[in-house]
Amino acid sequence: MIKLHDLQFVPFISEDKISAAIDDISVRLNNDLADKNPLFIGVLNGAFMFASELLKRFHHDCEVSFIKLSSYQGTETTQEVKELVGLNEDVSGRTIVIIEDIVDTGNTIEVLSELLKSKGCKDFKIATLFFKPEAYTKQINIEYCGIEIPNRFIVGYGLDYNGLGRNLTDVYQLKSSNMTNLVLFGPPGAGKGTQAEVLKTKYNLVHISTGDVFRYNIKNATELGMLAKSFIDKGQLVPDEVTINMLNAEVDKNPDAKGFIFDGFPRTEAQADSLAELLSSKGTEVSAMVALEVDDEVLVQRLLERGKTSGRPDDADENVIRNRIKVYYNETAILKNYYQKQDKYFGVDGVGAIDEITERLSAVIDKL
Ligand code: AMP
Repeated sequence: MIKLHDLQFVPFISEDKISAAIDDISVRLNNDLADKNPLFIGVLNGAFMFASELLKRFHHDCEVSFIKLSSYQGTETTQEVKELVGLNEDVSGRTIVIIEDIVDTGNTIEVLSELLKSKGCKDFKIATLFFKPEAYTKQINIEYCGIEIPNRFIVGYGLDYNGLGRNLTDVYQLKSSNMTNLVLFGPPGAGKGTQAEVLKTKYNLVHISTGDVFRYNIKNATELGMLAKSFIDKGQLVPDEVTINMLNAEVDKNPDAKGFIFDGFPRTEAQADSLAELLSSKGTEVSAMVALEVDDEVLVQRLLERGKTSGRPDDADENVIRNRIKVYYNETAILKNYYQKQDKYFGVDGVGAIDEITERLSAVIDKL
């Protein structure tokens, strides 16, 4: 999360995704305009970064100019679009490509198109990095469109909020909710399920345990259950695609949640990426990973003890237990690094009385 002036923004579109979209547009421009000696006109300030990246990828004769317009005041689109710096080039008879960072209502490009027509230009095309189809009210064709986005306020990659954020290389969207989303982390037997039960009531969160959802499906012999059972019985991970789809469906069942406790998810980097994407589509993000740290031999003893009453086949066999712990270190522990990089990792000593551990976890959550 980042803060610009008074508002908070969460990650929305990565630089890699933006680069790929610019690559696609540039392939088309190189094909379409190879022998046209086009005049590219970037719309300042927002389009400077996109224009630069796009033109680095155009490999034929061309000219470049900029025009400065302003249509935004704060986050509300104003009806009025002012021309601030005029167009000096002769545009009659030229092929013009207008480079825009974003087209939302379309007011700006309408003004520009009138301006170009009045100066005798008949051949102009629009290239925009972002496009909001829901907000667009004009008929002008957008020939080259990078990424379509929903009607949200975004910053970064040239776009600003009251002057700030243009230099960010990823794009962020306005944080639209105050959800608290916790990833409860730790090896099997660390006490995630026990603590999640307490924390969900204390913080009014929805608890999703992927292990519980799988076991419920196995018990009811659903298709998902049958699919997952062979993996679970051996202590292996269920394939990402299956798990991710299931998790998305569980989140969608709770549209009014104040937040979630994810218990047993994510367990792989692909799952962590997909969780980020899912929460981003709701204008929110993972608030923190809180990890219960417990020594391996304590885990084995706890799980064998639990196996006497839990009825879980994967708790009854010491080899399966040791395999689950091994899988955790081989495949899952890398996520500590994943969230540490985002300053979201908080380790908590998971040995002691249940309420002592809850207190340690709460101390972290209360500061988020
Ligand atoms: P748990 O109750 O969290 O210990 O999970 C029990 C078993 O369910 C695991 O050993 C895996 O086989 C499967 N499982 C639970 N969550 C996931 C996940 N996020 N990804 C893959 N497999 C999972």
